[in-house]
Amino acid sequence: MTSTSADSRVLIAGAGPVGMTAALILAREGVPVTVLEAGSAFSTESRASTFHPPTLEMLEELDVLDELMKIGLYVPTFQYRDRERGLIAELDLSLLSGDTKYPFRIQCEQSKLTQIIYEKLKDVPHVEVLFDSRVTVVEQDDHSVTAVLENGKRYIGEYLIGTDGARSAVRKSVGAEFEGVTYPERYLVISTHEDITSWIPDISFVNYISDPQEWLVLLRTPEHWRAMFPVREGVSDEEAQSMENVQHKMQTIGDKQGAWPILHTTIYRVHQRVANSYRFGRVFLAGDAAHINNPLGGLGMNSGIHDVYHLAPLIAGRISGSHDDADLDSYDLYRRQVSEEYVAVETDKNWRRLRETNEEERLKQQQELREIVADPARHLDYVRGTCMLSEVANARS
Ligand SMILES: Cc1cc2nc3c(=O)[nH]c(=O)nc-3n(C[C@H](O)[C@H](O)[C@H](O)COP(=O)(O)OP(=O)(O)OC[C@H]3O[C@@H](n4cnc5c(N)ncnc54)[C@H](O)[C@@H]3O)c2cc1C
Repeated sequence: MTSTSADSRVLIAGAGPVGMTAALILAREGVPVTVLEAGSAFSTESRASTFHPPTLEMLEELDVLDELMKIGLYVPTFQYRDRERGLIAELDLSLLSGDTKYPFRIQCEQSKLTQIIYEKLKDVPHVEVLFDSRVTVVEQDDHSVTAVLENGKRYIGEYLIGTDGARSAVRKSVGAEFEGVTYPERYLVISTHEDITSWIPDISFVNYISDPQEWLVLLRTPEHWRAMFPVREGVSDEEAQSMENVQHKMQTIGDKQGAWPILHTTIYRVHQRVANSYRFGRVFLAGDAAHINNPLGGLGMNSGIHDVYHLAPLIAGRISGSHDDADLDSYDLYRRQVSEEYVAVETDKNWRRLRETNEEERLKQQQELREIVADPARHLDYVRGTCMLSEVANARS
């Protein structure tokens, strides 16, 4: 570890998976870090659950992968299905064995990662994670950046990383634009302890199920099954989350005698937006604060972790003197390009495929997926494209 003076502290707004990963990387480089988290504890919201191969490689490097793999589920395949026709194509991630040590996904709630990282950071003297610390404004001059909290406290650092999520106060404070679109439909997420394989035995742990009336996604996490359905315009959040509607949705998966046991339901509004810059002087945006997309494909948290895997060493290098200021600009150039040209495009494609209603088009897409898995070279190319391996390789080159 290199050591730095106390005034070279980095402030991180938001202790989600992206902020905590940034804190860990900086901590390991010897940089003093203060993480300012609005909540009084880590969020336990049921959101990201899929960790892709390149992210697993990064987490291995950060020495947190073993713990994640101990509690996560090993997922070597994922499926495209049709509600009526059943399995269309099973994609095999083990084909990636020539590209990565981890040719599979791990299914595990994102809240487990923040906790694992927290345990690693607890005893590091130059790192503090402060709860009940909502950042409202950031101010900066030529030498430092100040985070002003809701409670009036002020924290000074050399750089600040805004990882405070989709509604980022940091992003608003620096005046970043957040252009893009909001989807017409919201998503309803329902989780249950019921074993969905009782109704669909040949299912994988990750399944994208198209249908002209109502698509759905079925995912397994270590603790439960999770189903995600679109909520049409005109249906209120309350109606969508009513027990009657929730039971009706679950009955379309399996005709269960009696009620489905429901653990929780959540409604998400879905956006595709990218900030107009990821750098504003001494302030950087990463994760959902910088880019948000629909969750189809599981790229939001993963690409956010990749953001700080790129950014944090640049900041550490700048502080220790091995990088100059211009090197920090590469973060904005490269990571914003990944968001705009890959994440936004891939997730939108996944959404359009799932919600296609034209039967001729649906049959064409399904035939194409079958042909892809029947051809080893196309199959490999396809699975590479789903997990950001080439984007990470480009960053390293
Ligand atoms: C249903 C669903 C499923 C998803 N599945 C996947 C998936 O499988 N894989 C994947 O990669 N992505 C997935 N995503 C996206 C993923 O959840 C997000 O991309 C991820 O949470 C982003 O992490 P983050 O750390 O940037 O932000 P967040 O997780 O939103 O964390 C932000 C943190 O900042 C705190 N905060 C907020 N405001 C302030 C403030 N002003 N000051 C201080 N702290 C603040 C919050 O309390 C929170 O702790 C999914 C999303 C949804 C909705």
